[in-house]
Amino acid sequence: MGLFKIINKGDGLKRLFIGGVHGKEGLTTIKALESISDDDVQDGCLVVYNCDESKYISTLNPLYYESETGLEVLDLISYYKPDMYIELHCYKSENFQTLTDLSRKKKLGVPPLIELEKGVLIGSVSPLIRTKIFDKENICITLEIPCQPSDESLEVYKDFLKVLAGAKSRADLENKASKIYPEQVETSQRYAWEIFGDYPPF
Ligand SMILES: [Zn+2]
Repeated sequence: MGLFKIINKGDGLKRLFIGGVHGKEGLTTIKALESISDDDVQDGCLVVYNCDESKYISTLNPLYYESETGLEVLDLISYYKPDMYIELHCYKSENFQTLTDLSRKKKLGVPPLIELEKGVLIGSVSPLIRTKIFDKENICITLEIPCQPSDESLEVYKDFLKVLAGAKSRADLENKASKIYPEQVETSQRYAWEIFGDYPPF
């Protein structure tokens, strides 16, 4: 289930994509991470990592970052210092409502995830690392897919990963993502603004 790959194209954005950060999610996320090829990255570098199976602890729980996998994630971030950090998760279909619930912020302190399409969801990463470890200029995104994805869901997920891998900057990413998902990008910018004030979107 493990996967570790580095694509280096010289100067440019440093990207780190990590899948399966808890529980059995890596069994699903590896299917998408494996599809990223050298051709998807135009400049900078991309480090792709898929974690082994671990105990499920929510990344909103501070104890997660004391667990073996949580520490592994922190190590990868501090070693590679990515400008773009993408976390790949999967969810059980019955949790779709909870994850996208518009009152999620009131209940959990984090904004709801936004559906791109076909059950693929986008959001920020845990506030425990977003504001403490990353700079406000960094791009930090969580991507969720159903754990038993349809072929269509997996295609949407893979395609968006390739958009991320190919983006040369935040502006380039916003530009490309807005062409495919204008409303979703606008909503994510609004959520980021609500949480971080003058933080850039994502
Ligand atoms: Zn997860």
